[in-house]
Amino acid sequence: MAARIIDGLKIAAQMREQCRYRIRDLQRHAETVPGLAVIIIGSDPASLIYVRNKLRACQTVGIRSELFDYPIDVAQDTVLSRIELLNSDPGIHGILVQLPLPPHFDMALVLRTISPQKDVDGFHLYNVGALVVGNTVFPPCTPFGVVKMLEHEKIALEGKNVVVVGASNIVGKPMALMLMQRDATVSICHAKTRDLAQFTILADVLVVAAGKPSLIAPQMVRTGAVVVDVGINRLPDGRLVGDVDFDGVRAKASAITPVPGGVGPMTVTMLLVNTIASAERAARLNDPARSNDVRTGA
Ligand code: NAP
Repeated sequence: MAARIIDGLKIAAQMREQCRYRIRDLQRHAETVPGLAVIIIGSDPASLIYVRNKLRACQTVGIRSELFDYPIDVAQDTVLSRIELLNSDPGIHGILVQLPLPPHFDMALVLRTISPQKDVDGFHLYNVGALVVGNTVFPPCTPFGVVKMLEHEKIALEGKNVVVVGASNIVGKPMALMLMQRDATVSICHAKTRDLAQFTILADVLVVAAGKPSLIAPQMVRTGAVVVDVGINRLPDGRLVGDVDFDGVRAKASAITPVPGGVGPMTVTMLLVNTIASAERAARLNDPARSNDVRTGA
């Protein structure tokens, strides 16, 4: 029987409804509107699309967004100064710098200039460390979205064999940590893994984030596995596909995320959730009487 398709658009829509409710609550009780600043440098077409989607998503739930759009040859100091101004702006609760950055930028420096209290992408070293010790402040949006999807689908993780294909700082590594915190037994594979299939075949839950179309063939997947495809690849004919042979694997898996319409909409939604959680924290700090009724993004 073909696997159930996990509908990321539908789950994201439900979560965005909760976002609207939380924003109304913040406005009513703390007179706060969450604010997100987005910085983009250059005009990489994919980055422009991602930024446009993020700004549009903010608008749909009622987050105020500000775009800072710099030419590719902007001086790094100009961007660092802007981040410092935003760090001290009480109307801004989240700061996002769209990656990748031009080659003359020091990405690590840019990311650590963002205040950890406003680092809604979760890439600042402080937030990475907090994730490692299990005390997440802002969970990185893509793995956070995957975890929320699995929770929504009531897919248990405790004691399960989970294999993560891809070990990047943005997706694979934080994904593995978040799954481990949910008591899964996690294996991480990467480009130098020998015989990838010997790992993937053992997975009760397989999460793939490699950026390689058709990397995961049906014979690499255990019958009944849950398959989460994080990959986004544009084929020469213009089609958007993930890393998994969707039709072949769907015949074997018990549940599978599509591309598009799977993890992508969740990623953007978790950015909204993190921004709202940040505004809620700020409201709590400004009003100690509310200190017990603030939800966090995690
Ligand atoms: P990345 O930085 O390029 O990392 C890719 C990872 O996959 C690396 O760890 C690499 O191994 C590993 N890998 C590459 N080829 C492999 C192979 N043949 N077998 C096993 N592992 C392999 O990419 P990323 O930023 O993590 O993104 C991964 C994919 O997810 C991309 O398609 C990206 O577009 C997509 N993505 C989607 C969303 C979303 O919202 N849906 C969000 C972020 C990213 P090494 O470490 O050994 O090089």
